[in-house]
Amino acid sequence: HNGTNGINSHMGLKTDISEEEYKNYEHGVQVIDENKELTPNLPTYLTIQNLISAGFNYHVVAVFGSQSTGKSTLLNHLFGTHFSVMDESARRQTTKGIWMSRAVDEVDHKQLVPNREGGMTNNILVMDVEGTDGRERGEDQDFERKSALFALATSEVLIVNVWEHQVGLYQGANMGLLKTVFEVNLGLFLKDRSTTHRSLLFFVIRDHIGHTPLAGLTATLMADLTKIWSSLSKPAGLETSEITDFFDFEFTALPHKILQPEKFLEETKNLRKRFREGTPPDVEVLSDGSPTTCEKGGVFLPAYHRRIPADGFPLYAEGVWEQIVTNKDLDLPSQQELLAQFRCDEIAASCTAGFNEVIASFEDSAKSGKALEGLGGAMREALGEAMGGFEEAGGRYHKGVFSRKRDELRASLEGRLRVLVIGQFSALSKKALSDFTEEITGILKKANSTAHAGTASYDFAVVVDQTRSKVVDKFIAEATECFIPGPTAEWSNHESELESLQKDLDEVAARLRGEEMKRLVSRLERAIKTKLSEPIELEFRRMEEDSKEKGGLWDRVWNVWTGVVKEGVEGFLNRAESFNATEKERDIGAWRLKKKAWGVLKAKIEEEVMEGNLLLKLRENFEDRFRYNDMGIPRVWKPTDDIEGAYTRAREATLKLIPLVSQIILTSTGASPDLDTFFGAPPADFEEDLEEIMGSAKGEFEIISEAKQDDMAVRFKRMADAVYVEAKRSTISSVGQ
Ligand code: GDP
Ligand code: MG
Repeated sequence: HNGTNGINSHMGLKTDISEEEYKNYEHGVQVIDENKELTPNLPTYLTIQNLISAGFNYHVVAVFGSQSTGKSTLLNHLFGTHFSVMDESARRQTTKGIWMSRAVDEVDHKQLVPNREGGMTNNILVMDVEGTDGRERGEDQDFERKSALFALATSEVLIVNVWEHQVGLYQGANMGLLKTVFEVNLGLFLKDRSTTHRSLLFFVIRDHIGHTPLAGLTATLMADLTKIWSSLSKPAGLETSEITDFFDFEFTALPHKILQPEKFLEETKNLRKRFREGTPPDVEVLSDGSPTTCEKGGVFLPAYHRRIPADGFPLYAEGVWEQIVTNKDLDLPSQQELLAQFRCDEIAASCTAGFNEVIASFEDSAKSGKALEGLGGAMREALGEAMGGFEEAGGRYHKGVFSRKRDELRASLEGRLRVLVIGQFSALSKKALSDFTEEITGILKKANSTAHAGTASYDFAVVVDQTRSKVVDKFIAEATECFIPGPTAEWSNHESELESLQKDLDEVAARLRGEEMKRLVSRLERAIKTKLSEPIELEFRRMEEDSKEKGGLWDRVWNVWTGVVKEGVEGFLNRAESFNATEKERDIGAWRLKKKAWGVLKAKIEEEVMEGNLLLKLRENFEDRFRYNDMGIPRVWKPTDDIEGAYTRAREATLKLIPLVSQIILTSTGASPDLDTFFGAPPADFEEDLEEIMGSAKGEFEIISEAKQDDMAVRFKRMADAVYVEAKRSTISSVGQ
């Protein structure tokens, strides 16, 4: 047998039982001792007997009667128990207080552990109640009353043991006992009118000689019982009640044990069968038409069951006895409620412990802020197991208490899961966002490293859409994992988290698009720079040219520039189309590009007019005029030539170029170009710093300041003077030869 029964899996009842201890229960357990103390060992005993998890599948029967009337002997024969029996030679009372023992089948008579198989009739708890001696009253009567109450509160069937020769002796001790039973039962009923509190009084007439048939004895006893009942003062509302409103009655007789030992054995064997046969298999379903008599052979009717789950029996017995011993009114419904509260709390604690084993480690890992693998399944399983366990074990207790405690337990467990789920949602959402950003950034980086300006091997909008649905699908799949069904678990729905994720993704997508468009603008800016370079240089080489069709330097530069810019903007807008960019974003991009292109042009112009560059250009221009004739042939000065005149004309013509290049003025209009019209108005809410976009190149058209122009003119003149002097010298030396 499993003598060492460790933790009883059945909800919070822990009992360690050693082999030694196990033997202590050979005669059952003394529930109430002679000092009216209740034993703390009931849980242990029920555990040893494999009854603790029987739920409602057990019966309780108690015996009543005068001292030394063979009660313990009867129980041992009927139920295979080992209650102490009075030694013939000593003749002193043996049963003190109340003993309890589990009935044992005949087959298992010698075994301490009863057959686990077999239905409820194998799960009978038998109570042997100390009898009164029928002479002395007082203290005895007090215990009689208390034990009657205890028996009625716990037992379905009360066996009343009487000698045949006592039948009809209305004043006898038994009648006093029965009067007590009826009285206390009325008291219980007053507190518990809502439930049908019925019991069976099973009379066993001992030493039946046979002169008077059982029917006669039955009639006599019933007459006496009715008489007792009518003599009771009944509480208001119950004046007309009948004894059969509360009790069923059974009568049987047994032969004399010592005079007819074999017949006695045979009859007790038959009676034993009656306690095990014809019992409805399932007491969980109460028979609605509770029969008033037990005619079907079955002794234990569902209506008798006290509806205390086996695992709550010890606590219930304790509570009931506590009330009885302190002479308080025994109120069974409130006892049931108290029991339900205690047990439901214990069961809830045990279920929570199981739940903790799974959930605590997740709570630990959740501190990392990362998404937890396998959370959903584990949560549902832990919750399902805890709630299932609670419902199974707690569901047998007081319905109101049970459902309140169940809701409390669920709320507390869900509260913990909720924290986990909220953390999980936020981790998943963060992960989705960073995956999204990382993946798109990666794709763009790769594509941009090979892309040419204005062209690309990818479609930004498509990349965003695809990546987005990938991370969103993943989020939904993983978040749905955490879904917990049930009306109280609305919080496990990820809809609102998804909504905010979508918003975040929108933002990131917009930011990435913005960045990508900036990169595009930069690429186009570089392209514009390349395209401008040669044509501008060319125009500066022929800066003095001025024609009807092409205009002067600045008309041509302007035309070149606007042409290149228009082309660039067109390329930008084409590309932006595939970005799914908003109109505003497109406007901003185009505007930035134009502004940047202006910066590019200004930089290029500055390069062309850098001091050395411009001086060189002026010198070339001057020399072209001074040292070459109209046909482009180098002049050889003769002393008769008007060197001064030529010098002065050439110098003045070249000097005119300085103010020309110093200010952007179109010859076609005589004014600076209308840059503002070309740019258009800045887009609404444009927040970027223009300075940053355009560099030092603001909208000004001044290229060289007045002071610088003067300075330039001086230096040019000096250089021109040198050329003149050299020319002059060449004529002298040619004359001298
Ligand atoms: P209890 O005090 O009511 O539990 O009675 P016990 O079972 O201890 O038995 C008291 C005495 O009565 C013992 O000596 C038994 O042998 C004896 N006894 C038991 N059963 C019977 C019976 O059916 N008839 C008679 N005459 N004596 C019995
Ligand atoms: Mg006894």
